[in-house]
Amino acid sequence: MAKNENKKELQSVKGMRDMMGDQYYALQGFFEKAQEICEYYGLQPIETPTLEQEDVFLKGVGEGTDIAEKELYSLKTKGRDKLAMRPETTAGIMRAYIEHGMHSKPQPVMFYTYGPVYRHDKPQRGRYRQFWQFGVEILGSTKTISDVMAIHLADLILKESGIKDITLKINSLGDSDSRKEYVKTLTAYYRKHVNKMGATDRQRMKTNPLRILDSKDEKVIEINKEAPQSISSLNTLSKKHFKEVLEHLDQLGIEYEIDHKLVRGLDYYSHTVFEFFTTPDKNEEGEELKPLALGGGGRYDYLAKIMGGKRDVPAVGFAFGVDRIIEATTKEIKPKVKKKPKVYFIQLGQEAKLKSLAIIEELRNAKIPVSHSLSKDGLSQQLAIAEKLGVTQVLIFGHKEALEGSVIVRTMKTRSQKTVAIDKLADYLKKTK
Ligand code: AMP
Repeated sequence: MAKNENKKELQSVKGMRDMMGDQYYALQGFFEKAQEICEYYGLQPIETPTLEQEDVFLKGVGEGTDIAEKELYSLKTKGRDKLAMRPETTAGIMRAYIEHGMHSKPQPVMFYTYGPVYRHDKPQRGRYRQFWQFGVEILGSTKTISDVMAIHLADLILKESGIKDITLKINSLGDSDSRKEYVKTLTAYYRKHVNKMGATDRQRMKTNPLRILDSKDEKVIEINKEAPQSISSLNTLSKKHFKEVLEHLDQLGIEYEIDHKLVRGLDYYSHTVFEFFTTPDKNEEGEELKPLALGGGGRYDYLAKIMGGKRDVPAVGFAFGVDRIIEATTKEIKPKVKKKPKVYFIQLGQEAKLKSLAIIEELRNAKIPVSHSLSKDGLSQQLAIAEKLGVTQVLIFGHKEALEGSVIVRTMKTRSQKTVAIDKLADYLKKTK
C-alpha cells in the first residue's frame, strides 16, 4: 500500500450517515409517537435481526425486483452461510411468524417494528443506503378491517408527526387468480409494443411485467398510458374486498386517489396496495420537486407459502421511510427524554464544582429538569447560556454556598435572589414557577 493511502482519514460508507443531535432526537421522537399510537390499537413490538439468511429476502421480496437483484447487501460468512442485510422488514417478520408457530396464537398477530434497513441504491435526495423504517404488520386475517386498520394507522402516524399535505394512492391487484389474469393481459398488451421498449423493460416482461408500469423510459411511459388496469382483471371476490376497503376509508374520512399504475414492485402483494406521497414541493430555485414516497404497503396473502411456509398466512402491512418523514415535517418532533430545562445551574469555584453533581442528582430524583455546563468557570459565561436557554430561574452555587450548604435561587426576570438550603431546594423549586 502507498504511504499516503495509509494516512487517508476513514469515512462513513457512502449513503450512510451518523445520526446525532436534532436528527437523532427527531428519529426517537417519531418512534415514540408512532409506538404510542400502535400500542393504543393493540399492536406489539418486534425487532427481527438486521442480518438474515439471504433466502429470506430472495424468496420473500422476490426475484426480478431491484431490491432483491441489485440492492441487496449480501455476504458470505466464514462458515459459508449466505446472509444479507435486511432491505425491508416484512420478510423477516413473516420468517419469525412461521419459525415461532404464531399461527397457534389468537389471530391476527399485530406487530410494529422500527430500525435501520439497507439498500445498495444510488444515493440522492431522500435516498440513502442505510435508512430507518417504521413498519406495521397484521398477520393472520383476511378481513378488510385489517387493510383499513393498517391504512388508518399509517394516516394517523403521518398526521401526528406534522405531515399535513399527503396524498394516499391506492389500488388492488386482487387475489392470485386475478393477479395472474392481470399479468397475462398486461403481458399481451406489452407484447404488441415490444419493439418500442428498451432492454430493461423487455427483460421485465419475462421476470416481473408489473414493474414495467413503473418504467422511467419516456417511450414506455407513453405506452403505459393505455395499459390495461388491474381492477379490470379482478374477480368477484377481489372486487368485493376492494370495494369494502374503500367504503371503510370513506367512513373514516380518509381521502385517497385510485392509481391504476400503483402495483408496488414486490412479488408478494395481493389485493390492496397503497402508498403515501408528499404533495409537490419547490426547491431553492423554485423548481417543482417530484413528490416523495413516505411509505407504502399492502396485503401479502401469499408470502408465507412463497417463503416455504406450510400454510397460507393472510397478512397486510406497511412501512414508512422515517428519514423522509423527518425531512418533510414542519413540526419539531421531540422525544420525551428531551425536556425543556426549568432551571440552569451555575457553579463558581473548585469547591462548588466538586459538590455540583450531588445537587444535580437530587434535582433529577425530584424530576426537575436542570441544565448546566460544569466545565465552564465564569459567572457571565454561564449566565449567558442561561439567557439563551430562556430559563426562568438560575441556581448560583459559589464557594460560600458550598461551605454553608445552600444555593442562591435567582429569578431571571426580576433579578431577585433568595438563599435556600440544599435539602429544601427541590421542594422550593417545585413550588415556584
Ligand atoms: P418501499 O417498501 O420500498 O416502498 O419503502 C418504504 C418507504 O421507505 C418508502 O416509501 C420510502 O419512504 C422509504 N425508502 C425507500 N427507499 C429509501 C431509501 N433508499 N432511502 C430513504 N428512504 C427510503
